[in-house]
Amino acid sequence: MPGKHSSSSSSKTSSSFGGKHTSSSGSGSKTKTVWYCSNCRIGPLNYHIDEYCPDCQHRRCGACTVTTIEYDPRR
Ligand SMILES: [Zn+2]
Ligand SMILES: [Zn+2]
Repeated sequence: MPGKHSSSSSSKTSSSFGGKHTSSSGSGSKTKTVWYCSNCRIGPLNYHIDEYCPDCQHRRCGACTVTTIEYDPRR
Protein backbone atom coordinates (compact mmCIF):
# COMPACT_ATOMS: atom_id res chain seq x y z
CA MET A 1 0.00 0.00 0.00
CA PRO A 2 2.58 2.56 1.08
CA GLY A 3 4.78 1.72 -1.88
CA LYS A 4 1.99 2.36 -4.38
CA HIS A 5 1.14 5.68 -2.78
CA SER A 6 4.76 6.80 -2.85
CA SER A 7 5.11 5.95 -6.53
CA SER A 8 2.01 7.93 -7.41
CA SER A 9 3.29 10.96 -5.51
CA SER A 10 6.64 10.87 -7.28
CA SER A 11 5.00 10.74 -10.70
CA LYS A 12 2.73 13.63 -9.85
CA THR A 13 5.66 15.80 -8.79
CA SER A 14 7.49 15.18 -12.04
CA SER A 15 4.43 16.06 -14.11
CA SER A 16 3.83 19.24 -12.15
CA PHE A 17 7.39 20.43 -12.75
CA GLY A 18 7.07 20.03 -16.51
CA GLY A 19 3.69 21.74 -16.60
CA LYS A 20 4.99 24.70 -14.64
CA HIS A 21 7.82 25.25 -17.10
CA THR A 22 5.42 25.20 -20.06
CA SER A 23 2.94 27.56 -18.42
CA SER A 24 5.55 30.31 -18.07
CA SER A 25 3.62 33.10 -19.78
CA GLY A 26 6.59 35.45 -19.90
CA SER A 27 7.99 33.91 -23.09
CA GLY A 28 8.23 37.30 -24.80
CA SER A 29 10.06 39.19 -22.07
CA LYS A 30 13.55 38.68 -20.69
CA THR A 31 15.46 40.20 -17.83
CA LYS A 32 18.90 41.75 -17.74
CA THR A 33 21.11 43.11 -15.01
CA VAL A 34 21.89 46.81 -15.09
CA TRP A 35 23.56 49.26 -12.73
CA TYR A 36 23.47 52.97 -11.97
CA CYS A 37 26.62 54.96 -11.22
CA SER A 38 26.76 56.04 -7.60
CA ASN A 39 28.95 58.99 -8.52
CA CYS A 40 26.97 60.74 -11.29
CA ARG A 41 23.75 58.68 -11.21
CA ILE A 42 23.88 57.87 -14.91
CA GLY A 43 22.21 54.69 -16.06
CA PRO A 44 21.10 52.13 -16.73
CA LEU A 45 24.47 50.68 -17.69
CA ASN A 46 25.12 47.12 -18.82
CA TYR A 47 26.33 45.14 -15.82
CA HIS A 48 28.31 42.62 -17.93
CA ILE A 49 29.88 45.09 -20.39
CA ASP A 50 30.32 48.37 -18.56
CA GLU A 51 32.64 47.91 -15.60
CA TYR A 52 33.41 51.61 -15.59
CA CYS A 53 30.98 54.50 -15.89
CA PRO A 54 31.26 55.91 -19.45
CA ASP A 55 30.46 59.40 -18.19
CA CYS A 56 32.72 59.92 -15.15
CA GLN A 57 34.98 56.83 -15.39
CA HIS A 58 33.86 55.74 -11.91
CA ARG A 59 34.37 52.04 -11.39
CA ARG A 60 31.30 50.08 -10.27
CA CYS A 61 31.47 49.70 -6.49
CA GLY A 62 29.28 48.53 -3.64
CA ALA A 63 27.51 51.88 -3.48
CA CYS A 64 26.38 51.65 -7.09
CA THR A 65 22.79 50.52 -7.60
CA VAL A 66 22.50 47.11 -9.28
CA THR A 67 19.06 45.98 -10.37
CA THR A 68 17.31 43.63 -12.78
CA ILE A 69 14.93 45.03 -15.38
CA GLU A 70 12.58 43.40 -17.87
CA TYR A 71 12.77 44.11 -21.57
CA ASP A 72 11.16 42.81 -24.73
CA PRO A 73 13.82 41.41 -27.11
CA ARG A 74 11.34 41.37 -29.99
CA ARG A 75 10.67 45.07 -29.81
ZN1 LIG B 1 29.35 58.01 -13.33
ZN1 LIG C 1 29.92 53.46 -7.23
